[in-house]
Amino acid sequence: MADVFDDERRSFVMRRVKSKQNRSTELKLIAFFKANGVKGWRRNYKLFGKPDFVFPKSRLAVFVDGCFWHGHDCRNVTPKDNADYWREKISRNKKRDGEVTAVLQSKGWRVLRIWECALSNKKIGALNASSFA
Ligand SMILES: [Zn+2]
Repeated sequence: MADVFDDERRSFVMRRVKSKQNRSTELKLIAFFKANGVKGWRRNYKLFGKPDFVFPKSRLAVFVDGCFWHGHDCRNVTPKDNADYWREKISRNKKRDGEVTAVLQSKGWRVLRIWECALSNKKIGALNASSFA
């Protein structure tokens, strides 16, 4: 069966899905910060790799990584349609994640990557506020 989306349309749709997911996971983390008295974080802080949250004083960069886009093995992440396309895209993302982490660490930053699934209602209780100190 032919794919219902051509490439351009698909990337438009997926971009929208991605930004919506990012927003909701970021909002969950903000709620966590507020509930646990975590202070000193900034959003939209200009730093290599565009971390989702930056704690400038403690030089901590926090990324919230979407399980699909960043290839978490918590679920079967490769859609059946266009499997090669997605596998390649996700493996590029993973490679870039590793490069970004390495560059930031080389500049003296600590890097914390949080999987989207760790922010689910079930799992967020296991998140430790002291990780952000
Ligand atoms: Zn996951």
